[in-house]
Amino acid sequence: MKGKMYIGGKWIAADSWFETRNPSDNKIIARFPAGTEKHVDMAVNAARRSFRSWSVMPPPKRGLILQKIAGNLRKDKQRLGKILASEMGKVLPEALGDVQEAIDIFEYMAGEGRRLFGHTTTSELKDKFCMTVRRPVGVVGLITPWNFPIAIPAWKLAPALICGNTVVFKPSSDTPLCAYELVRILVKSGVPSGVVNFVTGPASSVGKRIVTHPGIDGLSFTGSKETGEWIARNAGLKKVGLELGGKNPIIVMDDADLELAVEGILWGAFGTTGQRCTAASRVLVQSGIRKRLVARLAKAANSMNLGSPLLKTTDVGPLINKKAAEKTAMYVDIGKKEGAKIVCGGKGSGNFFRPTIFENVRPEMRIAREEIFGPVLSIIEFKKPEDAIGIANSVEYGLSSSIYTKSISSAFRAIEGIEAGITYVNSSTIGSEVHLPFGGVKKTGHTREAGITGIEEFSYLKTVYVDYSGKLQKAQIDE
Ligand code: NAP
Repeated sequence: MKGKMYIGGKWIAADSWFETRNPSDNKIIARFPAGTEKHVDMAVNAARRSFRSWSVMPPPKRGLILQKIAGNLRKDKQRLGKILASEMGKVLPEALGDVQEAIDIFEYMAGEGRRLFGHTTTSELKDKFCMTVRRPVGVVGLITPWNFPIAIPAWKLAPALICGNTVVFKPSSDTPLCAYELVRILVKSGVPSGVVNFVTGPASSVGKRIVTHPGIDGLSFTGSKETGEWIARNAGLKKVGLELGGKNPIIVMDDADLELAVEGILWGAFGTTGQRCTAASRVLVQSGIRKRLVARLAKAANSMNLGSPLLKTTDVGPLINKKAAEKTAMYVDIGKKEGAKIVCGGKGSGNFFRPTIFENVRPEMRIAREEIFGPVLSIIEFKKPEDAIGIANSVEYGLSSSIYTKSISSAFRAIEGIEAGITYVNSSTIGSEVHLPFGGVKKTGHTREAGITGIEEFSYLKTVYVDYSGKLQKAQIDE
């Protein structure tokens, strides 16, 4: 199959192509155009030309198109889930969840078309009215990763569109097919020509041109810390949103419900083969419960099945590509050399990697600090509750976190003390819902997506003063 780019309402090819492969067996699934700077320029021009008509369309009308997108995604959910599982490698129930997240955000943002609230307030002067209204940022560049290949583009497209922006969208080169299918649904649902422009191709040309293009007003990027730092240095004065990596802790207190904690840790650490920005990659466990927890985790992890994401019997799918499998193996070697003890796991065949657990991990070890983005869990023991918060905060990231405890005061101390954008109590580090803000602190970036904060990312507040006194009134000047 050969995919296409979508620019100014036309499906177009480029002079050369790149391949997207199934990570389970490395077979080619599709070929996509290797776009260049020239295609980004064409896309920006098309987006600029369409901006006025799209941004003056009443937001509830834009909302109707978003509703149609949600409906068409729902109709196509099973097919899209299978494509997603085949191209990205997450197991089918999670792939369907990825599509469901896209449905949810389009539905939620469709409703925003009837809100897009600003606020009204008082004036210090007579006969004067003060309010704020929301305006679109303009042309926005969306750059997305491969690990949520439909949900993350949808998390950006839905708020960008409802706010009245036009879009240049570059997907990850590992999952262009999922993005292409999403764009086809947008087109089918009535998004007008030029409003969404889809450019596939490498970061070195397409990605960099989007970041530096003078005709782009805003950028929303989800991906690695390193790329995020490059974007922060090179985007100039654009409005920039960055959603970067994580090294998310689960704290297990002595009083925790052990079975519940085990289930949550396995889901957090090995769901999506550990390739979630919110994956639980560290467990900080109190001394009294450590032995029992590690034994239970090792037994359960050892019994997880690796295999095709489309099979019902599979618990853990492949890593996204060879490079990811090699990087994960490299970290396992680093962990061993650092003196951590491997409890279970290791490299499987091809891109597969078995759920891997290290114990006797110290907070200063690299496996406890750096994002591995594979199914590798570090277990760190602590004695006093305040030590757990200190260890949780000892990394440069701050995305998600969790605590398992029956003590209300331990739970609230974690909520207060952990430096992260998200804290779960008695649940894993993953499972965001689209009507709540999502994002981090520290080197995860400080953007909030989804919920009302998704609207903030893709709009600006204009302050409006209406003076109906019929004379020049001067604020702050003594009369
Ligand atoms: P990545 O290597 O940073 O790539 C992400 C996207 O950026 C891809 O589309 C990539 O294009 C493009 N890109 C790379 N360098 C670029 C540059 N200099 N200028 C413009 N675009 C550039 O990240 P990834 O490996 O795809 O994704 C994994 C990372 O994403 C992890 O660190 C994970 O934690 C993070 N993530 C964060 C969140 C969150 O919400 N905080 C959610 C999901 C994932 P190519 O594919 O063509 O190279």
